[in-house]
Amino acid sequence: EGIVIAIDGPSGSGKSSTAKGVARARELRYLDTGAMYRAMTWWMLHQGIDANDAAAVAEASSRPVITMGTDPAAPTVDVDGTDVAAAIRTQEVTTNVSAVSAVPEVRERLVALQRETIARARREASGIVVEGRDITTVVAPDAPVKIFLTASAEARADRRSKEVETDDVAATQADLARRDQLDSSRAASPLTQTEDALELETSNLTLDEVIAIVVKLADE
Ligand code: C5P
Repeated sequence: EGIVIAIDGPSGSGKSSTAKGVARARELRYLDTGAMYRAMTWWMLHQGIDANDAAAVAEASSRPVITMGTDPAAPTVDVDGTDVAAAIRTQEVTTNVSAVSAVPEVRERLVALQRETIARARREASGIVVEGRDITTVVAPDAPVKIFLTASAEARADRRSKEVETDDVAATQADLARRDQLDSSRAASPLTQTEDALELETSNLTLDEVIAIVVKLADE
């Protein structure tokens, strides 16, 4: 049976780059669960469904077929056969994703899909690195390696600004703070740091240093 490495943390903490880097170094599969919540959100908006209408979101949540490619060198996100990798990174999706993720029916469906993906990677590959907000607590609490990545608000805003290629670091920081607040205060599986996961503060570490620390933990 393959290994499971679970990584949680707020946006901009370096989760995606770290998870991908660890998966490549150890030849594991890679799953970005945030991309799944974004894909669900993209589909709702595409259908003209109001992301803040929880009842409508809940009712429609079983309809989109979300397919994730788990190669860390070239991860893919498809909805009903359409590649949405770029479409899920727009500001419109980012603004609405916390509301859609707060709907229990959405989480139930995506968590089931995440667990299937993990089970397949454990059977068919050496294992998988899974990143998100509730992987260490809900999706894979039994994972042998559980990490909670943190970084200062400034470091996170700085990194995210570079990712989305904006000079407005203050606006990015405000947007991250708003999303953190929504993701941490919702009733269903809020982003929570448990004692169970090892905290890694990455503000003053390079990506390669963080990857090396996680790889070492996985080897122990
Ligand atoms: O990781 P990323 O910033 O792309 O995640 C987008 C959003 O998806 C988060 O702000 C959060 O609302 C939601 N999410 C979640 N549970 C996860 C991963 C992401 O609710 N496991």
